Amino acid sequence: MTMPTPLCPYRMQVHHIKQETPDVWTLSLFCHDDYHYDAGQHALISIRNGADTLRAYTISSTPGVSPFITLTVRRISGGAGSEWLTREVKRGDYLWL
Ligand SMILES: Cc1cc2nc3c(=O)[nH]c(=O)nc-3n(C[C@H](O)[C@H](O)[C@H](O)COP(=O)(O)OP(=O)(O)OC[C@H]3O[C@@H](n4cnc5c(N)ncnc54)[C@H](O)[C@@H]3O)c2cc1C
Repeated sequence: MTMPTPLCPYRMQVHHIKQETPDVWTLSLFCHDDYHYDAGQHALISIRNGADTLRAYTISSTPGVSPFITLTVRRISGGAGSEWLTREVKRGDYLWL
């Protein structure tokens, strides 16, 4: 699988997805490369693993504590990114950050 855009160079695999509230899901991602991040940082996600649509999500995991990088996404009706992340992306899929 090739990098869709240099803005999203890290390939992540979806390890699990947890529904938090009726319209919010947390995606737990595993990165096989060394992905360094700081508390409060946001990441750009390539929506549908393409170059055209990028969305920012705050990383909700704590660096150095969780083995996963987590994103907590509220589904916005008709939203290109949040609908894809919360409806179509499944465990085992790959995302680019
Ligand atoms: C720094 C940063 C951090 C963020 N962190 C988070 C986070 O942790 N969690 C989170 O859930 N979100 C976060 N966001 C918001 C996130 O980036 C997206 O903006 C959000 O998920 C909506 O994107 P979308 O692609 O789902 O919706 P979009 O496709 O951008 O659409 C948004 C809304 O506009 C409507 N719309 C779209 N196009 C049109 C149009 N042409 N005419 C009329 N209406 C239209 C859609 O129907 C929808 O209701 C963050 C944003 C920033 C900037």
